[in-house]
Amino acid sequence: MIYIGCHLSVADGYEQMGKTMVGFGGNTFAFFTRNPRGGKTKDVTPEDAEALNTLVKREKFGPLVAHGSYTMNLCSSNPETRRNGFEMLSRDLERMEQIPGNYYNFHPGAHTGQGTEAGIAEIADALNQVLKPNLHTTILLETMAGKGSEIGGRFEELEEIIRRIEVKDRIGVCFDTCHTWDAGYDLARDFDSVLKYFDEVIGLDRLRAVHFNDSKNACGSHKDRHEKIGQGYLGEETLKRIAKHPLLSGLPFILETPNDDAGYIREIHMVQSWFAE
Ligand code: FE
Ligand code: FE
Ligand code: ZN
Repeated sequence: MIYIGCHLSVADGYEQMGKTMVGFGGNTFAFFTRNPRGGKTKDVTPEDAEALNTLVKREKFGPLVAHGSYTMNLCSSNPETRRNGFEMLSRDLERMEQIPGNYYNFHPGAHTGQGTEAGIAEIADALNQVLKPNLHTTILLETMAGKGSEIGGRFEELEEIIRRIEVKDRIGVCFDTCHTWDAGYDLARDFDSVLKYFDEVIGLDRLRAVHFNDSKNACGSHKDRHEKIGQGYLGEETLKRIAKHPLLSGLPFILETPNDDAGYIREIHMVQSWFAE
């Protein structure tokens, strides 16, 4: 089985996102904890959060996958940016406690010249300051396309971060199909081998969510431009094989494809139709 949904806007509150996804026919979703480019946040009332928790339980949704801001960079060479990133991270995690039991996914960061090793150390250090055993959220590091000085384009880099984390049962990985492909892992030729490699380096038990996207570019392009399902270089057959892979069964799959509402509804139904075959 699969939990499938897409990215939704938080503009009308938490419960509304749940209602919207019910209307779309999906059973999970993602949302930015704050404006993805800026830093502003809107407070969520306890009533609204509780209403979403009730809806998610009633509709038997899979875990939700909140997304940290793109501007959050825990390993920037600029200390001010680093501090801001840490502020965002701590506040986001505080807010996530209103909807316990879900995921918080973020881009590990870009070292902006300090080097991968230093970047990895800073990300792990920041995470260790917020990852406490009483946290009700699991943090997911996203697999990245490896553009610029981005960390997370190689599974080894994510493993190095995880290895340094003290509270190990609150850390996992979100596998972005577009990013991983762009990073150079050939999901189209042999997805089984990529998963096997992931298992060897990180461990499949860490894989908790999938960002389900096609790519506008060839494998290894390091570009990170998402495409609609079946219209990019990955293609429908490969994406179908990934969605139906037994080792990924039961994970939340989040569409981050360039779509309007109608497009997302179509893709959610497309993915569900693969399971009815
Ligand atoms: Fe992302
Ligand atoms: Fe993603
Ligand atoms: Zn992306």
